[in-house]
Amino acid sequence: MRPVEEHQRVVAGLFRPRPPVTVPAADALGLVLAEDVVAPISLPGFDNSAMDGYAVVADDVAAASPESPVRLPVTEDIPAGRTDLLELKPGAAHRIMTGAMVPSGATAVVPVEATDGATDVVEIRAPARPGQHIRRAGEDVTAGTTVLRAGQRITPAMLGLVAALGLSELPVVPRLRVLVMSTGTELVEPGRPLRPGQIYESNAPMLAATVRDAGAEAVLAPMTGDDVETFRTTLARHATGVDLIITTGGVSAGAYEVVKEALGGSADAVEFVKVAMQPGMPQGCGVVGGIPIVTLPGNPVSALVSFEVFVRAPLRRAMGLPDPERPRRTATLAEDLTSPRGKRQFRRGVYDRDAGTVTSYGPPASHHLRWLATANCLLEIGEDVTELTTGTPVQVWDLA
Ligand code: AMP
Ligand code: MG
Repeated sequence: MRPVEEHQRVVAGLFRPRPPVTVPAADALGLVLAEDVVAPISLPGFDNSAMDGYAVVADDVAAASPESPVRLPVTEDIPAGRTDLLELKPGAAHRIMTGAMVPSGATAVVPVEATDGATDVVEIRAPARPGQHIRRAGEDVTAGTTVLRAGQRITPAMLGLVAALGLSELPVVPRLRVLVMSTGTELVEPGRPLRPGQIYESNAPMLAATVRDAGAEAVLAPMTGDDVETFRTTLARHATGVDLIITTGGVSAGAYEVVKEALGGSADAVEFVKVAMQPGMPQGCGVVGGIPIVTLPGNPVSALVSFEVFVRAPLRRAMGLPDPERPRRTATLAEDLTSPRGKRQFRRGVYDRDAGTVTSYGPPASHHLRWLATANCLLEIGEDVTELTTGTPVQVWDLA
């Protein structure tokens, strides 16, 4: 049997990043910047008022106080957005709003609270420090400064900065497109009636969601039964413009193993192997029509655990995403457990962050979706370990 690490290496070797593209900034959230962003303009772009009040020459109001206010004629009214260039003469005031351009000649803004608020002759009741309440051009960002670096993951706040700089597009590492395809004659799409012996298809919705959760784009192919020709034609029709194909089912040791039968021939470079792990022993990977493919086992728990163990990290790495690996934590086992010799076991678990403990969750068999649905970690047990007692430190993959 192939060790887990070896299969991880083989699968990881299949991934290729897409070349960078330029996208509308609105579509860039969560993607990784492909190039540095250099500020084309300064922020603020011009000296502007930090308060609603009056633009004055600071010297004119140096002696102002509530007892002996200074009276100045109001010669302009400047709301935010006024675009003509104004000049303040000494001995006068301009009424000015927050964000409006400070007129040339003005050296301070007196907040409206320190005045009578008049629009003809204003009474100024406090002195002003030169520069007071003026936001200077370039004090936030100077034009030409590198404000964001290639490799950073784009956040809402970054999109705010980018928009403030007047940029409407960004160079990004695009999401990889992953085709998800499930197989099995027994499968029925949710929402339709079941006949005896049939089950609802659950792998494709689950894997498409986990692909998206990993930061990639998921494309769903219609599920196919276990007919080899149908599988081949469905795959050929849908595997265009994608960077990775993920199939589930049809790779184990029984009859009607459609994926194995369709891709195991010499035409395609796909290998089917047994990996020393539980769940998820039957695995396959390779290249079909130039596109990397990972063929996951059909049992839902095996499929999701296999995605976690083999696909998620290289997928994220190929998109330049930070923290491609799930965080690993050491937790104290809160129960006794047994594990098969010679296999890496991944149990579903509940990890209590505050207590630093973990309990396994549900039986180890790979059809227990209910437990998988509410587990928050994978509990990793080494190949050589067959018995674990309460209190033993164990490694968990934090899925939260
Ligand atoms: P297979 O690997 O195709 O033999 O499937 C193993 C088990 O997983 C069988 O019990 C299948 O019915 C089940 N299974 C396979 N694919 C799916 C799927 N897409 N959704 C739900 N169960 C599945
Ligand atoms: Mg099947």
